[in-house]
Amino acid sequence: MQLRKHFSQLNRGKIMWKIDKPTVSARDSFTKSISRMHNGPLKVRLEAIEGLITSNSNSYEDSAQANTLHNFPRVENVASVTAAEMATVYDQRFAAKKSPARDIYDQLLSAPTNACCPLCGHREATTIDHHLPKMEYPVLAVSPQNLVPACMECNKLKGEYFPIASEEQLLHPYFDEIDIQRWLKAKVKETNPTSIIFYVEKPDSWSDLLFKRIQNHFDKFKLNELYATQAATELSGIRKRAQDLFNLGGPAQVKNHFLQESESRRAAALNSWRTAAYEAIYQSSWYCSGNF
Ligand SMILES: [Zn+2]
Repeated sequence: MQLRKHFSQLNRGKIMWKIDKPTVSARDSFTKSISRMHNGPLKVRLEAIEGLITSNSNSYEDSAQANTLHNFPRVENVASVTAAEMATVYDQRFAAKKSPARDIYDQLLSAPTNACCPLCGHREATTIDHHLPKMEYPVLAVSPQNLVPACMECNKLKGEYFPIASEEQLLHPYFDEIDIQRWLKAKVKETNPTSIIFYVEKPDSWSDLLFKRIQNHFDKFKLNELYATQAATELSGIRKRAQDLFNLGGPAQVKNHFLQESESRRAAALNSWRTAAYEAIYQSSWYCSGNF
């Protein structure tokens, strides 16, 4: 715990892809969600599944840690409670404004550094995504460990996706740690106008499985397209500066400037599209020699 805290403090401001696991338990989230329900048959049925919610949430955590969420059982009902009923508990008693568990929802939403969506590392997190979708895994509908802050676009792109093979498990920001090594890389394409493409490069310490998972994540959320569009705007914004530097001191002056720019971006975030883009820019002798 101490080590972890120390690590977080050292890297404050740099972490984009990892979020501390929620501290609220699945049991507390569930009991709070159903706390203001009128006593009746539905409440009795819901109260009867509290033990299942807790035990499934525990095994979900074990599976997430072991990279085996693709084997987590999909069920239509949680004992006598249907998936639709669990979805309503989430919508009306957890996510809705002024609902009994809305404070837990807000707490989850406010967890990322700089409000950044941990699925794309770029847009603002304004929604909550069920890592394993609630209609397929109703037992996890209000389990905080399955509820990840996300931007609207990522939430839509993911939809009802669930993994059926180990490499199909998308990045789980509570359980995967991918911010320690560089993996997000870019290349300047010698096109007119100049463009930049992005890709995942496997760090030595990653397993093949983690690499495949992050590549799959990269494709699923169309991160190359997202970053390439941002980079196109950035390239156009730095064109005059690059030309002025070139006129002043030739390719070496351009390279040196963007090397410093890249180091500055890297200090702010190890795996951001800007860090990757500026690294690609200063490393491209084609770009630095005047192809702005
Ligand atoms: Zn996103």
